[in-house]
Amino acid sequence: MTAGTASRTGWVWHELYGWHDTGRAAGYVLGAPGVQPFAHFESAESKTRFASLVEVSGLREQLTEIRPRAASVEDLLRVHDAAHVDRIREESRRQHGGDMGDGSSPFGWNGYEVGALAAGGAIEAVRAVADGSVDNAYALVRPPGHHAVRESGMGFCMFANVAVAIEAVRASHGLERFAVIDWDVHHGNGTEAIYADDPDVLTVSIHQDRNYPIDTGDAGVHGAGAAAGSIVNVALPPGSGNGAYRAAFERVVLPSVAAFKPDMIIVACGYDASAADPLSAMMLTSSTYREMTRSLVELAGAVCGGRLAMSHEGGYSPVYVPFCGLAVVEALSGIDSGIADPYEADWAAWAGQELQPHQGRVIELVRGQLSLSTE
Ligand code: ZN
Repeated sequence: MTAGTASRTGWVWHELYGWHDTGRAAGYVLGAPGVQPFAHFESAESKTRFASLVEVSGLREQLTEIRPRAASVEDLLRVHDAAHVDRIREESRRQHGGDMGDGSSPFGWNGYEVGALAAGGAIEAVRAVADGSVDNAYALVRPPGHHAVRESGMGFCMFANVAVAIEAVRASHGLERFAVIDWDVHHGNGTEAIYADDPDVLTVSIHQDRNYPIDTGDAGVHGAGAAAGSIVNVALPPGSGNGAYRAAFERVVLPSVAAFKPDMIIVACGYDASAADPLSAMMLTSSTYREMTRSLVELAGAVCGGRLAMSHEGGYSPVYVPFCGLAVVEALSGIDSGIADPYEADWAAWAGQELQPHQGRVIELVRGQLSLSTE
């Protein structure tokens, strides 16, 4: 590609995403004896530093900028209860803000506006892919969305960004079938719950078994009734690394999405399965995020006209998220920024990075539940 020519990959980022204020909890604990106030895990740094690396690498100027706009109340109400939206708006006007719904997901003054802009960023990315103005897109939004359920936020998520985007595009573009692949290390419980009865949305979550939420995401859950088979949960044991994720992708994720034949693939893209994350016990390096993205670009080309959008979720290592994210955006755009991951070699060499037998058994269990008819 010629320098300065915009690629067909869209990019969403807005300064206000960095202004979402999660306060001074130590991780997510505040107000407990002996706990010195510090920074919330879901602080701005991992995202702003990702945006900075995309900028200084020279990659951003080769992407197609997509301006986010705030999701309207109508957009939010396609997914959420009015009581939830109203409560967030009301608390958002308070000087010290409020909480998204579970007591450990704070937001500051004006938090509603940032949350609506995050959901709106996901909408605009998905819409740009749907109308063909870009081939694929990455929405670097904050706060994240995949834990939010219809009636509440939770797990640092205010609104269900991906679901809000799907419903907006269903309303405006007539696309119906979506495959949501959630590789955030935590179970994508919100998206799964919102679409549990919808046979036209496949939710595939690959996550650390019983990390968060502790009571959802079991490998045995795969949908019921008319939506039977539309839920796939690859609940990997702690300690899983590059080999386990690549095997899960090859044996479960790619075949299940191919068989589903979606109109678009959307990734709930978290980086908290990385080797450096404080909220999990997994070991991914950027090369696996790159490889998973490459395989989805290829799959989208084969099954849904290349339509692929990603919406940023978790990832709490300010040091490492930028390099994992750069790898993903390079793979989406096909552009090599020339900047190498300086941590890859050390962490990819850790013992246990290859697929372990107990991890393989989980993957085979889930594969055995899939409906892989390609008729
Ligand atoms: Zn997460």
